[in-house]
Amino acid sequence: MSLAEQLDQLTRPGDLAEPLEEKTVRCLACAHACRIREGKRGICQIRFNQEGELQVPWGYVSSLQVDPIEKKPFYHFLAGSDALTFGMLGCNLQCDYCQNWITSQALREDGSERVSGFLRKISSKEIVDYGVHYGAEVVASSYNEPLITSEWAKDIFSKAGKAGLKQVYVSNGFATPEVLDYLNPVLEGFKVDLKTMQKTHYRDLGGRLEPVLDSIQYAHDLGMWVEIVTLIVPGFNDTPEELNEIAGFIQSVSADIPWHVTAFRPDYKMTDKPRTSPAQLLKAVEIGFKHGLKYVYPGNMPGGVGEFENTNCHNCQTRLIERRGYIILNYRITAGGDCPDCGTRIPGIWTEDPESLNPLSPGDPKVI
Ligand code: SF4
Repeated sequence: MSLAEQLDQLTRPGDLAEPLEEKTVRCLACAHACRIREGKRGICQIRFNQEGELQVPWGYVSSLQVDPIEKKPFYHFLAGSDALTFGMLGCNLQCDYCQNWITSQALREDGSERVSGFLRKISSKEIVDYGVHYGAEVVASSYNEPLITSEWAKDIFSKAGKAGLKQVYVSNGFATPEVLDYLNPVLEGFKVDLKTMQKTHYRDLGGRLEPVLDSIQYAHDLGMWVEIVTLIVPGFNDTPEELNEIAGFIQSVSADIPWHVTAFRPDYKMTDKPRTSPAQLLKAVEIGFKHGLKYVYPGNMPGGVGEFENTNCHNCQTRLIERRGYIILNYRITAGGDCPDCGTRIPGIWTEDPESLNPLSPGDPKVI
C-alpha cells in the first residue's frame, strides 16, 4: 500500500471546511484556503475532497516523544517543564532549509515514502495518558506543520486540558482567523516562525508574509502566549535592515513577546549558504533589544552565545533563569510569576512550584 493510501485511511471529515458549489470545498485550516474539487487534494496533499467532503488527518502520529519545552523553543511558557510532543506528516510550505523535510514533505518529495514505517495508529486518549504517565505538563503539536492537522490536535488538546496539561503549537503561522478561532478554546501557546520580511522570499517558501503577520497579531489578541522564532540564514534574511524590520514588527504587537534568533545549518536543498556565526546571532540580539523587546534569545548554539541564553528581569536585570541549551541550571521566578528582587511581573506562564526546578540542595553555592 502506498503512503498516500495509508494516510487516506487515517482520516475523517474535517470541521475546518466550507462547502462550495458542485461538491467543491474550501479548506480553512491555513492561509492557502484551498478550493478543492471533488477527488482532488489541497496544496499540502494531506487534506482531500472525497465526494464533496473534506477529509482530514486523524488517529495517528509519526512521532511521539517527551522533550524539554525549551526545545520547541518556548522560554516563557512553563520553563523547565516536559512537553509531550506529537508529529504528523505534511506541511503547507516548502522551505528549502527544512530540517524535518522527510516528514514535512511527505507526499510531495521522492524519498519521503520511507516515513510510512513511522506511522502509528493511536487514540487521543492514549496520547494524553502517555503524557500523564511520563509527567509531561504540556502537549505540543510539532515536527510537521500543526495547522494542517488542527481537528486532530483539538481532540487531543481537549482531553489534555481535562487532564491538567497545557497545549502549544509549534507553527509556521500561515494561519487563517478561522483556524485560530477554532483552536482558541484549547490552545494556550503559539510559537511562530517569522522567517523573513521579504514578500518574495515568503513566496519562494510557498507562502505569503501578510497572513503570518496577521496571525501573530490575532493570536496575541486572542490571549494566546506567543513566542517568535527567526532562523537567521546568512544571505537570506540577515541584513540589519531586515532584522530591524522583524524586531520592529514584534515590538508593534507587544514588547513582551520573546524573540528567538536561531542559528542556521545547511540542510535539505539549501546547502550553498554558510552556518550562522555567533557574531551574527549576537547582532540580531542587539537589534532586538534596541527596538525595546524585553526578551531576545539566541538559539541552536548552546554555550556559544554566552549569557544571552539566560532570562534576566527586564526591569532590574537580575538573573531569573540560568540556562545551558535546554537545561535549566537555576530558576528564581516566584510562584506568582514575579521577579523576586523588584517584584516586576515577568511576561509568560510560569510554574506555581518553582522549587521543583531547583534540584540542588539548599546550601549549594549555586542556589541563590
Ligand atoms: S491545510 Fe492549507 S494547504 Fe492543506 S488543504 Fe487546507 S488550505 Fe490547502
